[in-house]
Amino acid sequence: MKLLQVTVCLISLILVVPSVFAASSSEDFDFFYFVQQWPGSYCDTQKSCCYPTSGKPAADFGIHGLWPNYKDGTYPSNCDATKPFDSSTISDLVSSMKRNWPTLACPSGSGEAFWEHEWEKHGTCSQSVINQHEYFQTSLGLKQKTNLLGALTKAGINPDGNSYSLESIRGSIKASTGFTPWIECNRDGSGNSQLYQVYLCVDRSASGLIECPVFPHGKCGAQIEFPSF
Ligand code: 5GP
Ligand code: 5GP
Repeated sequence: MKLLQVTVCLISLILVVPSVFAASSSEDFDFFYFVQQWPGSYCDTQKSCCYPTSGKPAADFGIHGLWPNYKDGTYPSNCDATKPFDSSTISDLVSSMKRNWPTLACPSGSGEAFWEHEWEKHGTCSQSVINQHEYFQTSLGLKQKTNLLGALTKAGINPDGNSYSLESIRGSIKASTGFTPWIECNRDGSGNSQLYQVYLCVDRSASGLIECPVFPHGKCGAQIEFPSF
């Protein structure tokens, strides 16, 4: 009888314990994608773009977002409607955000709508690790640290409208940051494949770059254009 009770107890433990872990991890995440966009490739598409109200951004990569992700390639989104974007919590960062996280969507805006979207869709899903101020501060720090344009130009890859091999683009970013990037392409107004966004991965405590556990889907050509801006 005792043996039966112990067995039943053990079986329920085996069944219950993993589901408790699964429940907590399904609300969490495994790593971040840190995504930067090339403004020339956002603007030269058929859809075109609008400069922010503060004027034409610098010819440099801009931040798109810091996106919590799961190792299986899926991701959580819009995790907490009780924590809306609050620009008063990031007033010390706004001038740097205007320079480093400019909005190019139409109609022209200050950037607030873009930052609000990124916080609400993605940032609210990483609050177990970083709060709103840390979310934006971490992203600004990563942009500076990765210096993508510096990595590319050092390798002779310039935003001059010429085509470069995808391998050389990847290789130069790997050589400079130490980590393999994922390159996303889009098409210019004439249909040519071009360098649009660069994904790097960040560990789940947001302390530094890691090799990506999984890459997004999609494909560039072997040679891609690097348009001017
Ligand atoms: P698209 O469909 O244009 O690739 O992506 C649209 C939006 O979905 C992105 O801007 C981003 O907010 C989200 N998204 C797309 N792919 C991923 C991904 O692999 N991970 C995460 N976390 N978000 C993604
Ligand atoms: P995601 O693709 O991150 O889910 O959503 C991007 C949202 O931010 C879209 O609604 C898009 O219109 C808006 N947005 C505003 N400015 C920009 C920008 O400069 N680049 C991109 N990719 N989206 C922007």
